[in-house]
Amino acid sequence: MDKQSALNRVHELHELLNIYNYEYNVLDKPSVPDSEYDRLMQELLKLEEAFPDLKSSDSPTQRVGGAVLEAFQKVVHRTSMLSLGNAFNEQDLRDFDRRVRQAVGDDIQYVVELKIDGLAVSLRYENGLFVQGATRGDGTIGEDITENLKTIRSIPLRIKRELSFEVRGEAFMPKKSFEKLNELRLQLEEEPFANPRNAAAGSIRQLDPKIAAKRNLDIFVYSIADLGETGVERHSEALDLLEDVGFKTNQERRKCTSIEEVLAAIEEIQEKRASLSYEIDGIVIKVDSLTQQEELGFTAKSPRWAIAYKFPAEEVMTKLIDIELSV
Ligand code: NAD
Repeated sequence: MDKQSALNRVHELHELLNIYNYEYNVLDKPSVPDSEYDRLMQELLKLEEAFPDLKSSDSPTQRVGGAVLEAFQKVVHRTSMLSLGNAFNEQDLRDFDRRVRQAVGDDIQYVVELKIDGLAVSLRYENGLFVQGATRGDGTIGEDITENLKTIRSIPLRIKRELSFEVRGEAFMPKKSFEKLNELRLQLEEEPFANPRNAAAGSIRQLDPKIAAKRNLDIFVYSIADLGETGVERHSEALDLLEDVGFKTNQERRKCTSIEEVLAAIEEIQEKRASLSYEIDGIVIKVDSLTQQEELGFTAKSPRWAIAYKFPAEEVMTKLIDIELSV
């Protein structure tokens, strides 16, 4: 492709991806399946790789999430809430493993976790008390959804240690609650939600917490943003600590010492996927040692010490079609 054609296509892709981002992140109402969004994003990444001067700082490849809704108070995140790099096949995972080993050596332990299909939230605790909850927003500024988050029963309002820290997790709507909600919406002649992720996002970003309270949302927490006074040295220890002080973490996580073990774990989880009571859209692989995480650092948009393996597109499409048929 010549430079001019690449430039034209880059502009087209910016425009499309910005529209889709807005629909998904701000309106909670996507018009295309995630696989289509991911395909266009990969096309843009490849063009930017081939023509580096076409990569601008406002490119969708450099940005996290979307703008915040004006109706909410804004929260400036003390630690940015980033996205995750994507892997779509075994080769992408092997490339990730190679990059990690090149940077920090061969003594690696990974933690493999489910990628819960909900929305990222941040929970701030002061001396053990839940004081503020926020959406990811654009990664730097999120929406204050404290009162809505308080309606999720698995979020402790007071934890078992007087810690002051920020916890990150995925708020989601269990499959059953999603089905019930859409049945109700159809009875009331309201538009059903496209999938549990959008239903969760639409419910948690309600101005009236009474609506969120009726939606049966749940959460799995998956990290501590500022480890400060906790003294933990590994991601897996952070998860154990979170569990000990009263949070709900996902029990399907496993430790792996090689990429072969990671691949086997992915296979195993994929087989379980349909039987889970909540939606997952992939599997997250994280370097366990926090020292190694620090050495690996971040790109503009995501940590270099983690990657999200996304399930193949056909499955995502099937999932969407199934849901459409079942409502
Ligand atoms: P992402 O969904 O690929 O990954 C990052 C997110 O994963 C985190 O922010 C967190 O919320 C979540 N997550 C779930 N479980 C986790 C765990 N165990 N550990 C860490 N994080 C976990 O990236 P993104 O930036 O949130 O969203 C981009 C994706 O959203 C796209 O790849 C696409 O699938 C979808 N999207 C779709 C459209 C559309 O129009 N259909 C538009 C925009 C984005």
